[in-house]
Amino acid sequence: MKKINENILKSLNNELKRQQNHIELIASENYVSEAVLTLSGSILTNKYAEGYPGKRYYGGCEFIDEIENLGIELAKKIFKADHANLQPHSGSQANEGVYRALLEHGDKIVAMSLDAGGHLTHGYPINFSGKHYDFKHYGVNKDTEEIDFDEVRKIVLQHKPKLIVAGASAYSKIIDFKKFKEIADEVEALLMVDMAHIAGLVAGGAHPNPMEYADVVTTTTHKTLRGARGGMILCKKSLAKKIDAAIFPGIQGGPLENQIAGKVQALYEADSQEFKDYAKQIVVNAQAFAKALQNEGIRLVANGTDNHLITIDVKSGFGVTGKDAEKILEKIGIVTNKNMIPFDDEKPFITSGVRVGTPAMTTRGFKEAEFVKVASIISRSLKNQSEANLLALSKEVSDLCEKFPIYKNIKY
Ligand code: PLP
Repeated sequence: MKKINENILKSLNNELKRQQNHIELIASENYVSEAVLTLSGSILTNKYAEGYPGKRYYGGCEFIDEIENLGIELAKKIFKADHANLQPHSGSQANEGVYRALLEHGDKIVAMSLDAGGHLTHGYPINFSGKHYDFKHYGVNKDTEEIDFDEVRKIVLQHKPKLIVAGASAYSKIIDFKKFKEIADEVEALLMVDMAHIAGLVAGGAHPNPMEYADVVTTTTHKTLRGARGGMILCKKSLAKKIDAAIFPGIQGGPLENQIAGKVQALYEADSQEFKDYAKQIVVNAQAFAKALQNEGIRLVANGTDNHLITIDVKSGFGVTGKDAEKILEKIGIVTNKNMIPFDDEKPFITSGVRVGTPAMTTRGFKEAEFVKVASIISRSLKNQSEANLLALSKEVSDLCEKFPIYKNIKY
């Protein structure tokens, strides 16, 4: 076997140590199983397989077809969908594929704004979505910081979009897909749900399934779903042909069959009682974490969480920006990301908030007690940023990491 180049090897080992020695609170990250890692780095990377199972533009695809078909059937079963496409290289490409399948450039779409929790691909002006389509945005209610369906309805009735997008990157409450569907029906719009963040919760029964109401559902496969990095689209039978054609040959060439195998493995793992328990624990942990943060006197966006994530208003709680809070926490070994809060007066690169989530550390075995400890560490670090205090807190962080090891058998 060829040796890994020593320059890459050094960084790879440092990254392994970083993942092992930090408390990972980025809500969109997770630790995949060693089986998923093996498949992602397998010989499947060698194979060209443009097309779909049974209809490829290359020879030698019989085993690739078997793997992709297993994933399609599993995804349909888990999410109760008529059709599944596992080929999108990412969540962004899944979204682009849907827009291209269902719309023309310039068509109207109603989606959540970025500062309320939406994603770049939901119409941010410098993203392809905002450039090619005419997005109108809804936000959250100023008092509750939850989706304001009166506002959604008003915007939809005013603009009569062809597509409504529900789903977000930083929204901590259960999304009422039925209400979205009722509003979409009023103007005969299609409903797309981007469940990238909550797909694992949906698979594990800890969040309502959007497929019950949506025409099409997009997702990433690497967040709460804990699979190989990439995207996936689920849809009604009537849209299947259009969706498939929009991904290939529309916006992609050869599918990443190594990544697809890593998605299929994750779907097998998700189709189990163990994963149901995991999904439930993610939410139980997030709620215990939220309560402990609030007990420290910290303000949380939307007053807490129903899912895997929490947005902390660090500016009102500690007088620091999201950018500074992210840096201070990283100093003591806690990884988070700065995040806009609703009606934020700071720019997206500064922000007033920090987004935290429980999926990754729940994978490592954290329960409520550990998240209560983490809440206390966060609070103490942001209240007293002296070197001596941060040093003492980083020791508490490394003790917790040692107690909950990950990837013990991995050696590069
Ligand atoms: N949609 C939502 C709601 C997301 O949160 C993300 C990623 O953070 C995406 C889409 C895009 O996924 P990717 O980073 O794989 O392009």
